[in-house]
Amino acid sequence: MSKELIDMMKKAWEIIQEIKKEGIEVSMKWDSWTGADYLTKADLAVDAYIIGYLKEHYPEDQILTEETAEKEQEFNRNKTIWIVDPIDGTMNFSNGDDKYGILLGRYKNGEPELWISYFPEKNILLFAQKGKWVYLNNNKLERKIKAEPVFQISRPQDIGVNFENNIYENKAGTKISGIKSYHTVGRSIVQIIVWNLSACWWFRPWGKRDFCAWQVALNELGLTTTDGNGKPLNYSVADNNHIRANGCVVWEPASHKKLVDFLGNK
Ligand SMILES: [Mg+2]
Repeated sequence: MSKELIDMMKKAWEIIQEIKKEGIEVSMKWDSWTGADYLTKADLAVDAYIIGYLKEHYPEDQILTEETAEKEQEFNRNKTIWIVDPIDGTMNFSNGDDKYGILLGRYKNGEPELWISYFPEKNILLFAQKGKWVYLNNNKLERKIKAEPVFQISRPQDIGVNFENNIYENKAGTKISGIKSYHTVGRSIVQIIVWNLSACWWFRPWGKRDFCAWQVALNELGLTTTDGNGKPLNYSVADNNHIRANGCVVWEPASHKKLVDFLGNK
């Protein structure tokens, strides 16, 4: 089954390539969760294609996507739920940047169970399934923890954390080394996994599709997720409001305290 889903993701990439050839036209959309955002024909075409595939092969399941009317559905814990972000990083995509991907997640019994993240122009396909580890381009992922933690920070400028040459400083003068990230939750997760980063932190509104079951990969690798104060998250839509207020941290246990202390004095 995993091969079929991966083939489906690759077909979605073919659809994107065809639309790219015609030229990408960008419009704006409004989302009650995340505000104004970019939209292209490719987002809609891939959204429709993946929904069609899932409805044909898994007619009993619930589908929560970014671009369709069904996006307003809430999680039903009694159903198997697919989460679809047809293009994660639409702004990058529309600017001709290669940092965008196709995300597919699956929840069973309310728990994240499967996650496929495909960043075609980066040649990255991550596949994670509960109890079955994480695979990068068909190879079992080897995770090497860095001796000195390296963090990834989303939009430090929004909360007044100073950064210079990838060194971030909070009000108390504590410094951490890190990588600044923009916008996409999916890409941030891919970075933390593929680049062996120690932790990442977001402080920005999330969309519902941002809970795209990526926690499967983190759990398999021994990482976990809390808010900026260290409180565990439940991976539910309800936690979305909480994240909007308190940020979200993904971390290796060894680096968690350092990052939470840093955030506490931001
Ligand atoms: Mg998207």
